[in-house]
Amino acid sequence: MRISVLASSSRGNASVICNGDTFVMVDAGISARRICKGLDECGLGMEQVSGIFITHEHTDHIGGLGTLDRKHELTLYCSRYLRSELRVVAPRATLNYVEPGGRVQVGEVTVTPLGVSHDAVDPLGYVFEGDGVKLGYVTDTGRCTRTMLAALEGVHALYLESNYDEEMLHDSGRPYSLIERIEGVAGHLSNKQAGEVVRALAHSGLRHVILAHISPECNTPSCAEHSMQSVLEEVAPMVQLHVAGQFDRLPWIEI
Ligand SMILES: [Zn+2]
Ligand SMILES: [Zn+2]
Repeated sequence: MRISVLASSSRGNASVICNGDTFVMVDAGISARRICKGLDECGLGMEQVSGIFITHEHTDHIGGLGTLDRKHELTLYCSRYLRSELRVVAPRATLNYVEPGGRVQVGEVTVTPLGVSHDAVDPLGYVFEGDGVKLGYVTDTGRCTRTMLAALEGVHALYLESNYDEEMLHDSGRPYSLIERIEGVAGHLSNKQAGEVVRALAHSGLRHVILAHISPECNTPSCAEHSMQSVLEEVAPMVQLHVAGQFDRLPWIEI
């Protein structure tokens, strides 16, 4: 199984995951033009993507969906209560709903959604499985609960939000209400919280950690990387750490 992150930050997110001949995407929060360009760099066209798994409806996760829907035949997977919202954004698409814990098979990829804690309509994370390897995909969550950790147990690769540095967030000059929202249970994971998640999930089979959804205002890629590296040195020194970026595609990572 492989993953390439087309883009990730608070400004836009999209990834492509492959197992065998099956390609699926997670989110479409950058422009349709950038999605198609990113897929092209992966050697793919939109018609080869069997489905797009949507985490939630914030613009940085579905911003490109409307244009994609006008130009391509899409199959979308989302939580039950998000369907009506997505129907408005992508009226032509085939919409399937998925539930936490309910497995879905798309070609050679098995997908198990998990509930996350975020101020959106029924937001989801996902575990992708194929060929005996598991990839956990968790973004936009204020907390990583025990239920979430249980669902992510044993993953060989983890795509994980590392949204903000606490000090930078407090020095950002943002309104206190927004700071409270970001730090709240339905907000985002800080670098420190992301470290705690990896600490809890570390095991000898964990090979890759991909840091994602880094805030351009309240974090830097190197700050997030250093924070996670210090945890990895302690608990899982063999893990390869990757940092997804706002502009450049993260090339295929073989899990
Ligand atoms: Zn987001
Ligand atoms: Zn969000």
